[in-house]
Amino acid sequence: MITSNLENKTAYVTGGARGIGKTVALGLARNGADVAIVDIDLETASRVSDEIKAMGRRSMAISCDVTSADDVQAMVDRIIIEWGKLDIAFNNAGICINVAAEEMTPAQWKKVIDINLTGVFFTSQAAGKVMIKQKSGVIINTASMSGHIVNVPQPQSAYNASKAAVILLTKSLAVEWAPHHVRVNSLSPGYIATEMTLSAPEEWKSRWLEMSPAGRMGNPEELVSAVLYLADDSASFTTGTDLVVDGGFTSI
Ligand code: NAD
Repeated sequence: MITSNLENKTAYVTGGARGIGKTVALGLARNGADVAIVDIDLETASRVSDEIKAMGRRSMAISCDVTSADDVQAMVDRIIIEWGKLDIAFNNAGICINVAAEEMTPAQWKKVIDINLTGVFFTSQAAGKVMIKQKSGVIINTASMSGHIVNVPQPQSAYNASKAAVILLTKSLAVEWAPHHVRVNSLSPGYIATEMTLSAPEEWKSRWLEMSPAGRMGNPEELVSAVLYLADDSASFTTGTDLVVDGGFTSI
C-alpha cells in the first residue's frame, strides 16, 4: 500500500459520510491529515468524523448541500476559522439518476447537474479562493469513467454529461490557477462497490462484470492511493490530469 506524509495538512471531503468519500477521508487521516467530513447527511458524517478523531487526528462533520453556494462558503469559512488553512479539497459528492433521456423531467436533469457539476464548481471556487491566497493547495474532483464512455445497459445521460463536464472544468481551473501554485486534478473511477452501484438491478451488475477486463468491481480502498498521489507535494507537476482507475474498463 502506498503511504504519504500528510502530517500538518488539512483536508475536507464532500460526500464523506459513506462510500468513496468515507474511505478516502479515512485514508487521508491514516496518512496524517486532519479531515473535515462534509455531507448533506450530518448524522452519518458525524460518525465518520468520530472515527477520524479516534485515530488521533482533528476532524469535524459539516452539514453542507454542495448545490448551495452559501452552504459551501460557510463550510470553507469554518475550516479556515478552526484550522487556519486548507491544503486538500476532495470534491466528491455526486448522484446518479437512471432514466431514459426521452422521459427525463427537467427537475431530474437539474438535480444531477446541480450536484455533480455545479456542486464541484462551487466547492472548487470556494477552496480555490483560499488556496490562491495561500499560494498552495490541491483540489481533486471526482469525475467518473462515465465522463469518457457511455455506460450500458442503464440509461444515465445527465450523469455522463455531468462527469464529462467535471473533467473539462477541472482542466480549466488547473490552467487558470497553475500560476497561483494551486493544482486541480480529477479522479475517474470505474465501477466501485458502494451503495450507488450495489443497489443496481442484478442484470445490470452482471452485464458490467461481463464487460470488465478485471471481472469485478473495484472497492473504494483501491482509490485511496490514487488520491494520495494527487494530493502529495511530490506530484507538483501534475495538474489538469484526469486519473482513470477502472480495472481496464475504458481500455476496450
Ligand atoms: P454514495 O451514494 O455511496 O455516496 C455519495 C455521498 O454524497 C453520500 O454520503 C451523500 O449523502 C452525499 N451527497 C449527495 N448529495 C449531496 C449534496 N447535495 N451535498 C453534499 N453531499 C451530498 O456514492 P459513491 O459511490 O461513494 O460516489 C462518490 C462519487 O464517486 C460520486 O461523485 C460518484 O458519481 C462518483 N463515482 C462513483 C462510482 C461508483 O461506481 N460508485 C464510479 C465513478 C464515480
